[in-house]
Amino acid sequence: MVEFCDVFTGTVYRLGDQWLNVAYKQVATLLKPKLEKAGGLREAANEAASFWMEDYYSLIFPLRFCLQGEPFSFRKVPFPDDSGIINLESAPEEKGFRAGFLRGTLPPLLPVERKERTGELLADRLLIQAAMANLFLRQRSAHQEAIDAARLAFLTYPLLEHLEIPLPAEAEKIARFLKEKGELPYGLDPDLLLRVKRGKFPDDARVGLAQVAVQRIKRYVFETPGLNEIRGASTLLDDLTEQAKKLVSKELGPEVILRAVDSTIVFLAPGKDEAENLAERIREGFYKATGTAFAAAAWREVEVKRLFEDYQRVMEELQQAVEVDRAKGEVPITEALPFETRCRICRTRPAEGWTEKPLPGEREPSLVCQVCITKRRRGLPERRGKLQELLGWLGLDNPEPLGVSGKEPKEWVASAIGTEREGGFIPDDARPCSPRHHLRRRQQLRSRGSEDK
Ligand SMILES: [Zn+2]
Repeated sequence: MVEFCDVFTGTVYRLGDQWLNVAYKQVATLLKPKLEKAGGLREAANEAASFWMEDYYSLIFPLRFCLQGEPFSFRKVPFPDDSGIINLESAPEEKGFRAGFLRGTLPPLLPVERKERTGELLADRLLIQAAMANLFLRQRSAHQEAIDAARLAFLTYPLLEHLEIPLPAEAEKIARFLKEKGELPYGLDPDLLLRVKRGKFPDDARVGLAQVAVQRIKRYVFETPGLNEIRGASTLLDDLTEQAKKLVSKELGPEVILRAVDSTIVFLAPGKDEAENLAERIREGFYKATGTAFAAAAWREVEVKRLFEDYQRVMEELQQAVEVDRAKGEVPITEALPFETRCRICRTRPAEGWTEKPLPGEREPSLVCQVCITKRRRGLPERRGKLQELLGWLGLDNPEPLGVSGKEPKEWVASAIGTEREGGFIPDDARPCSPRHHLRRRQQLRSRGSEDK
């Protein structure tokens, strides 16, 4: 039996063997098709990392409410309540574990297996182990295939008994080693892998750490009053964060990303140079895509011990370095010269071209700047797109047949989000492998619903 304590609400979930078995099985079943379709070790490792980072979190949060079939509504998850402790020791086999965001009732909670109470999810633990194995092996110039096999092994070893497909042979060997010892392929150092698994690192172990953050977001997004431009700018920033994530995932693996929200990305790298190289490429991409949004960046080398024991401080120092970079950064010149025609939308930058159609209230296409036209192009289709996306998450691709016609679907969403009150507290002791992940991901999952009101 394990107890999972939700650090944000203080609720304790007591999980019995039966629960854990079925939850492991459910998670393995959902991971299986992703591994099957992966075309090689590297892709399989990336899929597994994304699964724990994105898919698994959307199965877990929100913990306490779920979608109720028809008629469409939300309800509280019917947890049996046992004097402040939610007892899931003897939960029945047919539990309706979730198969997607809000689809199904029970979140397949899998805490780190320990005897005592824990607030750490298995997902967080596996991701940080995979990230550390990844970085240390790169530092030792291990072969790429060995790195990917080790990553995949770290991301799957607790599920070995439940996965109905074999892992690629070498990854399977490493996973077996992590579970119950055995031979290691590629001449991998058993001591290193065990250190990573136990979270015990040598004093001198170091990794690279970088942050890139778009600055003056508000000014960029709200510099013009038009809804299309505002939405376009905000979507563009979301896309850029996605692109930055993709770049880091492609170069190193998704598991090294510690944070990627609000136009900010924080990631680990094997060393300072790799951190710098990636940070500069991301910064350049941000600038190229927006034509103006200015990104500040910082990178450094950190002791792994400090990263684990003093995470908050390490992140504050990194943030300060970003501020310093921001202070010395050059802001692009946006003033138009007196003889230049100014953009019809922002009325600040020089116009560089015409809108495709007349702006609202005008008869002819207008002269606009590149920044505004980029925002506008992005924003026009997006207004409909976001709502559709949201309805998709809720399984409401066509709301009418569910009997909610006559009501604005977005009102349903707003009221649903209003009932979700989790994740409001930020713990001070956030570490790279624990509740911090909950908070970020929970904020992301909750904000999915509140984006389009
Ligand atoms: Zn403009």
